[in-house]
Amino acid sequence: MNLLLIGSGGREHALAWKLSASPLCDRLFIAPGNPGTAACGENVALDVADHAAVVTFCRDRAIDLVVVGPEAPLVAGLVDDLAEAGIKAFGPRKAAAQLEGSKAFTKELCREFGIPTAAFARFTDEAAARAHVREAGAPIVVKADGLAAGKGVVVAETVREAEEAIAMMFGGGLGAAGTEVVIEECLVGEEASFFAIADGKTAIPLASAQDHKRVFDGDRGPNTGGMGAYSPAPVMTPALEREVMERIILPTVAGLAARGTPYVGVLYAGLMITAQGPKLIEYNARFGDPECQVLMPRMKSDLVPVMLAACDGMLSDVDVRWWDDAALTVVMATKGYPGAVEKGSVIRGIAEAEALDDVIVFHAGTKDDGGRIVANGGRVLNITATGRTVKEAQTRAYEAVARIDWPEGFCRSDIGWRAVAREEKA
Ligand code: AMP
Repeated sequence: MNLLLIGSGGREHALAWKLSASPLCDRLFIAPGNPGTAACGENVALDVADHAAVVTFCRDRAIDLVVVGPEAPLVAGLVDDLAEAGIKAFGPRKAAAQLEGSKAFTKELCREFGIPTAAFARFTDEAAARAHVREAGAPIVVKADGLAAGKGVVVAETVREAEEAIAMMFGGGLGAAGTEVVIEECLVGEEASFFAIADGKTAIPLASAQDHKRVFDGDRGPNTGGMGAYSPAPVMTPALEREVMERIILPTVAGLAARGTPYVGVLYAGLMITAQGPKLIEYNARFGDPECQVLMPRMKSDLVPVMLAACDGMLSDVDVRWWDDAALTVVMATKGYPGAVEKGSVIRGIAEAEALDDVIVFHAGTKDDGGRIVANGGRVLNITATGRTVKEAQTRAYEAVARIDWPEGFCRSDIGWRAVAREEKA
């Protein structure tokens, strides 16, 4: 089969690595890809926002399956346009991708189908939103409705902080994403990410992971796209996984089908494990980055038939198998991230890091500069290792990090700390 993977981040390198290992995969194209994906297939300079160009490419290369990595093309309707052209694509159509594209959409779906989530109210008027937080008090969570690249959520410790967030969002600080604001009850518990895959009618579980959003050790500092992750998340016991499938994932898939907008693709549920059980914080309509980098090395099954079954509505016949090992990834970023960064610093030692057993280096913001790998963005490398425990994976990953020679880069030194502490107690 010929496959086309859309995207260029660490998630897409992990997907390209997994897809290219499939016996079903003859040729893999990645648009636009990165220097890491170039080792798994052929990178193509295709403008993925130009859907007609993607369709033409698929016809020219006889593409059998398109896999969409990031959220933006899903929300923009790439899967709809491919389907209309008769091309099979893994990922939700535009209407179903609203699960990620609009927080209000997801909250209303939860209300309609009784899916446990934080209590909420929606506002299109600044004064009414301010009055609501003054009455409800803090802590309280203020969210811009639309896609805001991870910047649209403020967990406000005080009413003043909540009002400042409301003013920023209605003031256009996040562009069109902030024309509607959702205000939510602040949930208390441990967070976990849970991944499932849906075929429009039903869904099957994948696995759990936990990421570290804050830039500095001890989960401090500003939020980022993610500084590291590990899988499985120890908080997700098998009983809890079943509960999440029954109370959250399956009702979501059934609800979207009942509304006539069936969901095909990855369902990434951000959960809070509260004293009253698991509650949905939010959905993403694709694999997480960096969570994908720890899920793929743990997946024993071939990913290609699973994705094909999802596209064909045949997932009830599929069983995805996993290695028992844990995986952990450490993100290396250019100094200054998540603020402005300088591009072009030279990175050495990637081959030395990968020479270690059970270590894979997934590229994100890198560039091949005449045979040298240089930094080309904020998050640059994902140093990924597996081990019998999270601790073992963590030790290996940091051994590999030590082999990366990149003075302009940095990483957190405590990825996995919560899971390691839990393992040490057990
Ligand atoms: P999101 O961008 O929706 O993933 O939200 C970012 C982070 O905000 C989440 O990972 C949570 O840590 C936090 N958060 C979002 N909603 C809530 C909530 N209702 N209660 C507590 N924390 C929340």
